[in-house]
Amino acid sequence: MENNQYPHGQKMYGLIKEVIDVTGPRLPGSQEEKQGAEIIAEQIERELGAKAVTETFKTPRHACISAIPWIGWCAFIAFCAFYLSPIASLVLSALLLLFAITHIFYYSHLLDPLFPKDESQNVYAVLPPKSGNAKYNIILSAHMDSSWCWLHSYKNPNTMMIKTGLGVISVVALLIISIVTIVLESGTSISFMGLRTVFERVSSNVHDGKDIATIVMYCLPVLCLPGFYFLTQYLSYDKKIAAPGAMDNLSGVATCIEVAKHFQESDKDVAKDAQFIVLGTGAEESGLIGAMAFVKAHKDDKQIVDENTYAINLDSFRDMDHFNVVKKDSLQFVPFDKELTELSKQAIDNCGVQSHIIENPVGGSDSTAFAKAGIKTITLNAQDPRPTDYYHTTNDGMDNLKIDTLEKGFEVVTELIRLIDKKYADDQDTAQMVKADD
Ligand SMILES: [Zn+2]
Repeated sequence: MENNQYPHGQKMYGLIKEVIDVTGPRLPGSQEEKQGAEIIAEQIERELGAKAVTETFKTPRHACISAIPWIGWCAFIAFCAFYLSPIASLVLSALLLLFAITHIFYYSHLLDPLFPKDESQNVYAVLPPKSGNAKYNIILSAHMDSSWCWLHSYKNPNTMMIKTGLGVISVVALLIISIVTIVLESGTSISFMGLRTVFERVSSNVHDGKDIATIVMYCLPVLCLPGFYFLTQYLSYDKKIAAPGAMDNLSGVATCIEVAKHFQESDKDVAKDAQFIVLGTGAEESGLIGAMAFVKAHKDDKQIVDENTYAINLDSFRDMDHFNVVKKDSLQFVPFDKELTELSKQAIDNCGVQSHIIENPVGGSDSTAFAKAGIKTITLNAQDPRPTDYYHTTNDGMDNLKIDTLEKGFEVVTELIRLIDKKYADDQDTAQMVKADD
């Protein structure tokens, strides 16, 4: 693995391997996640010479993405319930959709108190500014946990969206079929009794269009079964085949450490007034729980969070052709910082790679937690946004890393910090000139 062309990439590769070789996959709230956090805390102390603080919090089990297979199984129950009472299948499918909207698409965490909890942790270190006088803060954050294996992506990423979409549409379809059947059967309280009446009338040749419609309604739910099955197969709970998380997201963690080390040791005049906070979050894959716990714990902690705090979240560096500035998690509805979006784009361009400003179409990133707390934030990644067989699958191991992209990620983030530093200085000059004019 000797390759002096990518000194930082090499170094980061080593940091990532040091964690993965011991822990393997690090599911939210697991022992392996805890072990990974301990190793990363050691790395922060060793590489940056700063005290790493660990903060624990509770994370609900299967109250977010990992609930999808359960939704599939519950949809099967709703299917059976339909033949006893369409009212029961209406209620059940409506509840499933409501849960999906509020916990899987949008991370409201409303029902989290009802779920069993595990312990997870954040790790962070505060690095004093080189000048000794902190004028602004840069949080470099990345999540340390990894995802369950997404089986559809693993087997065939090209049909992943179709299978998942079909699952969602099937639940909506069952809901609509239930409503129509209830309307058709308004005179009958128990569904299968209504069906028996219809069959009696059909067999005695006294039937009208409504009877035929009712029979069709009783056949249609069968078409929903493949979709429900795809939901049950969305991901595997088997931690042995979970994603090792080399790209997603030890690549981000290693970048945080390597970039902070760079500004400690070189680039002496750049960002000398910046206080760096290196932050590894836990349970991101359970709906950004760690980042939310961090902003909650530090909302009144002026040493870390004030109006001059910039949170740069790093998540998954692998694909050289896809250096992305994520300006928003679409379904979380809180845009990230406009100025940081522009500066990030400029940083990528300055490093000689094609930049893309994108919105994260589904799911979320830790920046949403920062943005909701009013902290200026941006998420950077280098990842193909389309479904791939290495995103959230067992394929995201050491073999999945690209050292040249790790190196480029390092360059981009250091360039972004140079630009933030320059902007901060320019803003201060402008403020002083305005003051002088007054
Ligand atoms: Zn991630």
